Amino acid sequence: MADFQKVIAHAKEYGFVFPSSEIYGTLGATYDYGPYGSELRNNLKQYWWRSMVQMHENIVGLDAAIFMHPKTWKASGHVDAFNDPLIDNKDSKKRYRADVLVEEHIAKIEAKINKDIAKAQKRFGDDFDEAQFRATNPNVTRRQAQIEDIEARLKQVQVDEDLVAFKQLIEDLEIVDPVSGTKNWTDVRQFNLMFNTQLGNIAGEEGKLYLRPETAQGIFVNFLNVQQSARQKIPFGIAQIGKAFRNEIVARQFIFRMREFEQMEMQFFVRPGEEMKWYEYWKETRLKWHKALGLGESNYRFHDHLKLAHYANAAADIEFNFPFGFKELEGIHSRTDFDLGEHQKLSGKKLQYFDPELNDSYVPYVVETSIGLDRLFLAVFSASLQEEALEDGSSRVVLALPPAVAPIKVAILPLVRKDGLPEKAREIFDELKLHQNCYYEEKDSIGKRYRRMDAIGTPYCITIDHQTLEDGTVTIRERDSMQQERVSLETVVNTVNERVDMNSLLRQVK
Ligand code: ATP
Repeated sequence: MADFQKVIAHAKEYGFVFPSSEIYGTLGATYDYGPYGSELRNNLKQYWWRSMVQMHENIVGLDAAIFMHPKTWKASGHVDAFNDPLIDNKDSKKRYRADVLVEEHIAKIEAKINKDIAKAQKRFGDDFDEAQFRATNPNVTRRQAQIEDIEARLKQVQVDEDLVAFKQLIEDLEIVDPVSGTKNWTDVRQFNLMFNTQLGNIAGEEGKLYLRPETAQGIFVNFLNVQQSARQKIPFGIAQIGKAFRNEIVARQFIFRMREFEQMEMQFFVRPGEEMKWYEYWKETRLKWHKALGLGESNYRFHDHLKLAHYANAAADIEFNFPFGFKELEGIHSRTDFDLGEHQKLSGKKLQYFDPELNDSYVPYVVETSIGLDRLFLAVFSASLQEEALEDGSSRVVLALPPAVAPIKVAILPLVRKDGLPEKAREIFDELKLHQNCYYEEKDSIGKRYRRMDAIGTPYCITIDHQTLEDGTVTIRERDSMQQERVSLETVVNTVNERVDMNSLLRQVK
């Protein structure tokens, strides 16, 4: 996996991600997707949407508005409880999330444990038993106990919402500001993450509108509209892709944490009491979906939440091994009947389902899967970016994206710009573009053109040479192996389609 700074630089240079409003000096934690970035993003959305909606008879889609009645956010608990604990360093004037400071402290201890394990592994070779080493090595057991103690205290201060104890924890751990290197901290305060704006014709609190901080509430308030119009029976799900906004305190990790981002959420409505079964089902199903992308199984792990959100009775993250370590990529939450129950109370409208098998009505329980599209983009992009040493001593940069999500699926390249090769190449391009997103180029040497396609992740290049005119065959070059094979023009469309189609991914998650 490439270094994080290289990932950011490559994303900009090759038209994937640009900083927002760059000519004005950029806007913090906001990014724009370029020509190839927007294609990759659309393909990732497609993969999610098709595997959720097209592949499940009992999941249907929704596209709700970003603005919602302000009472929505009162009922959901966001007005009162969608806060992060923040702390400032008085010397650097930098602001941090108090929980993140503690988590980073824990990660440092974990790194020490991993270093000891790696050393021992080297020393003992094949005989090394990691589980035994973890259980018996005094340094490791001492550090593990430290971690458990800190996690327990972190959970306690969060559950109690005790901001004084939170600051004490940071002081006891002797956490220093990475910028100033000092322990000169302010008190910990709560900070609400919702952006708000004002309705044109109503002044004051009454006209206050929020930019949605999650897409889920649009699903909850439409629960009955969808269930009745799409004639769904429980268990069933509603899927939605859309923008969400959070006034994040710390947003210094490229597209990992932005103030405007896109979520892909699915709310699955189940019978009360059956939620844990479905929670386990969706945890496994979602992990399988990620692994099908082929970025390496060891790059994923589950992390159970220490502190459950106000609406949840179980929650886990799927974490990904980003260039800066394992961090949350997707959340799977058992949200109970909290949201529907609260909307029912505040709106006075019944949000119940009549279950014909039980001959009874109830407020369904909900299991949610929630993934940030931008984080998925970063995971796929960073894990795919590789610098490769070649046999001839040179090197190449290759973006080994899963073919089904690559921005350009196939490049059509005439070997030279004469002898009728461009005309023949155009013929093939015009046919293939009906099936796939293609790219045509005749400038520069063929080697240079291959490298450019490697750098944007194009899985196949078709080269038209003099032999094409003689016998109607072309070469197909595969990005990762750089192998070339000759195929006939009649089969080229099918060959490409078979190899780059989204079906290859969907089949794995069926
Ligand atoms: P974190 O702990 O990293 O702040 P969260 O637990 O608040 O995330 P959720 O509320 O569970 O996140 O949101 C679901 C998903 O939305 C996350 O798994 C993540 O992929 C994405 N997400 C949340 N906040 C952001 C953000 N600021 N920028 C980009 N993606 C985000």
